[in-house]
Amino acid sequence: MDIRGYLDYLKKHEQEMLRDLEAFTTLETPSTEKKLLDAFADYLARYAGGLEATSVDIIPQTVAGNHVRMHWAHSAPATGRPILVLAHFDTVWPAGTLKEIPFSVRDGVVRGPGVFDMKAGLVQGLWALRALLSGSRQYRSVTLVCNSDEEIGSETSRALIEDEARKADAVFVLEPSLAGALKTSRKGQGTFSIDVQGRAAHAGLDPDAGISAVHELARIVPELVELADPSQGTTVNVGVIAGGTRSNVVAASAHAEVDIRIRTAAEADRVSAGIRALRPSRAGLRLHVAGGLTRPPLERTTGVARLYEQARSLASEIDLDLREAAAGGASDGNFCAAVGIPVLDGLGAVGGGAHAPDEHVIVDEMPRRAALLAALLEHQ
Ligand SMILES: [Zn+2]
Repeated sequence: MDIRGYLDYLKKHEQEMLRDLEAFTTLETPSTEKKLLDAFADYLARYAGGLEATSVDIIPQTVAGNHVRMHWAHSAPATGRPILVLAHFDTVWPAGTLKEIPFSVRDGVVRGPGVFDMKAGLVQGLWALRALLSGSRQYRSVTLVCNSDEEIGSETSRALIEDEARKADAVFVLEPSLAGALKTSRKGQGTFSIDVQGRAAHAGLDPDAGISAVHELARIVPELVELADPSQGTTVNVGVIAGGTRSNVVAASAHAEVDIRIRTAAEADRVSAGIRALRPSRAGLRLHVAGGLTRPPLERTTGVARLYEQARSLASEIDLDLREAAAGGASDGNFCAAVGIPVLDGLGAVGGGAHAPDEHVIVDEMPRRAALLAALLEHQ
């Protein structure tokens, strides 16, 4: 089936897509509420069971919410390694948000907690599979991994995602689009904490006996800021500083927390090395640096560019002018890019207001984006 065929099919099922989105949104899924997340995982597993999935696994977790992995084995004569599709089902919204922002569909716009980031993307992904299964008997194996902890760093799902990415030929991420554009690069992120230990003394009676950790940290902060390089997109933010006890005490300790964002692995290495190379300015001071890269950058490699060009060409057949954009924030796509697999991100919902009260999704774009994903899956 060509992309127009998929679009016809999905437009016919738009109301069902919306009903699924309502069901997914009504099940609230804050990243830290295991009971709610596990209930959603069970619901999703049952849903995939009705979608002819070859296998559906709930990946149990002790503290975090369970994750779900679904697999559709390829149909002959399609061969090759699977395509990995990623969707997280946790949201940044606490339980009970539905009372303040109820699910609603009005004037072609859906509202509700987590609809844009990224339950509509998940619905589109499942309907793209439905369309693919209904229309084509020739497609690659598809693995859909739905994790419960993306909004808090994917600590417990990272290994699962990297393992599945290593098996795959390409990764499609159902994170929201950027004003309709796909995300062909994403900055990576690192966090560091810096602890300075000095020596306390009375600031009036015996100032020479003390060594101020606060003064030392104040000396270090500009050195950290200097590591930024706007021309490379590298930012360094000293977001937290703390230290000392009272104004008349030479401070014995001080602490800083630093966030770095980088576009390339080379910049990540340069900045990390710069932070680790910090040394105390005099004897009697101790410096402890902890932390590192939490998400590697997603770089626009030739593999990424090739996927984007393919998506752009398919989209043009349904009069969709598909653009690309660079995103400042990271996603699980960053982990996949770091293991060397081409990633196309931002294939999810069109709308806006991620993590904000005006979060919304454009209804008409749901079948279009789902059709694009179905066609992309068929053409790998
Ligand atoms: Zn997201």
